[in-house]
Amino acid sequence: MTLTNKIFIAMALGIVFGSLANVLPIFPFGLEEVIFFGLFDLVGQIFIASLKLLVVPMVFVSLTCGTASLGSHGNMGVMAAKTISLYLLTTAIAITIALSVAMLIQPGSGDKFNSQLTTQASYQANNAPPLKEVLVNIVPSNPIKAMAEGNMLQVIVFALLFGIAISRSGEFGAKVAKSFESLNHVIMEMIMILIQLAPYGIFCLLAKIFYTTGFELIQQLFIYFITVVLALFFHGTVVYTSILKILTGLSPIKFLKHMRPIVMFGFSTASSNATMPITLETVEEKMGVKNSVASFTVPLGATINMDGTAIMQGVATVFIAQVYQIDIGLAGYLTVILTATLASIGTAGVPGVGLVTLALVLQQVGLPVEGIALIIGVDRLLDMLRTALNVTGDSVVSCVVAKSEDAIDANVFNR
Ligand code: ASP
Repeated sequence: MTLTNKIFIAMALGIVFGSLANVLPIFPFGLEEVIFFGLFDLVGQIFIASLKLLVVPMVFVSLTCGTASLGSHGNMGVMAAKTISLYLLTTAIAITIALSVAMLIQPGSGDKFNSQLTTQASYQANNAPPLKEVLVNIVPSNPIKAMAEGNMLQVIVFALLFGIAISRSGEFGAKVAKSFESLNHVIMEMIMILIQLAPYGIFCLLAKIFYTTGFELIQQLFIYFITVVLALFFHGTVVYTSILKILTGLSPIKFLKHMRPIVMFGFSTASSNATMPITLETVEEKMGVKNSVASFTVPLGATINMDGTAIMQGVATVFIAQVYQIDIGLAGYLTVILTATLASIGTAGVPGVGLVTLALVLQQVGLPVEGIALIIGVDRLLDMLRTALNVTGDSVVSCVVAKSEDAIDANVFNR
């Protein structure tokens, strides 16, 4: 059986087992506490940690290799501009779709949501750091600290600089590039080893999450939940596939097939960062994108490109505006498109952060931040779904940029 199938079965079993234990008392003597919060939580956390341990070394080594190989003949600046523009564009489309779907379905209007609940809501928003600080923080004053803290943007900046310097250092640089290439192979092998753990890790993670999911909350927020899911689904199946087909001519069906392990990891871990090793490996090995492009687009995407998050934020904004019966007007919605695009860039690729940055969007258009408390109950499940979309977006843009740079092997993609 292929690993992808094993992971798929593990996912299904985890979801069924966890949900059953949630609704039926299948274990006597409080045994479920020991199983779900003890054993499953332990294995799940070890699995996530094993993915995360790869991220910093992988991004640093892979991106250094990519930039060094691109150095002399490629134009890093043009590639970066294309990548960032595409990430911004897809996010802006995502949020526009989210707003349109939400206006159509009206998830927070009186007859669909009990607005009495608003009086009980409370949520404390964190203050956002000033823009100047955000910009200064992109440059690492201490690269080792950046790596130790897992600050992805800083690691990316350092690796880019290091790679460019290697490519400009003649024979000395060539030696360093050679050892980094070897190191890159070793790290890819590490990914292959740790991926073998995935079926067990994913089973345990999902069983625990579905065991603790409040299904009653989903009933109460059903229309909101479905609205987000519809917008995510539309963006994933219509927008991404059209972009891929139009801009690269590659087969969307093949693409979606290649995406299966990435989507499953994104869904199970609810973290673009933790999924990054799988995204990079799949985009390079299965989709045929050259390391010089993938090593830049994938980590950058996992850090700044969050279309699924933007969709949740768009729907949530409309929902909260309707529940509190506040009309933010056309200008308000345009502000939402702008701020949610920025907020999703600022969202770290770890579970739950999208909800934190939603506060920024709400504040910007004068909606009550405590509205977040209304949707928090179903956010974990939505987080898993939106992360699956986030990582799909990173892969689409990687293929498009690679195609424009003539850095994708169509034979590998179509294999
Ligand atoms: N969990 C998401 C991700 O890692 C971010 C979020 O929306 O909370 O991509």
